[in-house]
Amino acid sequence: MPGRTKASSLGVRTLMKGLLVTAHVNSRDDYIGLVDVNSFYVSAERVFDPSLIDRPVVVLSNNDGCCVSLSNEAKALGIPMGYPWFKLQAGAEKMGLVARSSNYELYGDMSSRVMGILSRMTAWTEVYSIDEAFVGLRGTLAQVRAAGEQLKREIWRLTGLPVCVGIAKTTGIAEYS
Ligand SMILES: [Mg+2]
Repeated sequence: MPGRTKASSLGVRTLMKGLLVTAHVNSRDDYIGLVDVNSFYVSAERVFDPSLIDRPVVVLSNNDGCCVSLSNEAKALGIPMGYPWFKLQAGAEKMGLVARSSNYELYGDMSSRVMGILSRMTAWTEVYSIDEAFVGLRGTLAQVRAAGEQLKREIWRLTGLPVCVGIAKTTGIAEYS
């Protein structure tokens, strides 16, 4: 699920990521990238409905229960991840807030496209979640940064999805671009 930021889960996630990455690193790996689609479900909906661009948008969980993906504009309204839709529905129109039911078939398909691009463009790819993957990047820091920018451009060009690429020397994420 994109956008999970609960403090209680951060330690476990960091540990799991460390273990995953450690299993892949070998002497030829210079850097590890973490590729993450920004607001994945919202971004996937925007690819097929450009009227959602630049607007506050939330994607709802099964049966439209709660917000599981928020655009930056929706976050700026102060809506927290997981907030129940029934508490927002009455005031949504006034806020200009748009909601979409989740479409997991679409997200799965978009995810496969992103992961396929990463597999073709990197030394190795380890899928971590529907919108996150670790990748092996080889070269100098300058080369690896350039490769990260190229990944962002290619994923945008081929899928219309915005991603960020974090680059780390070993298991700690050292920087985000
Ligand atoms: Mg994400």
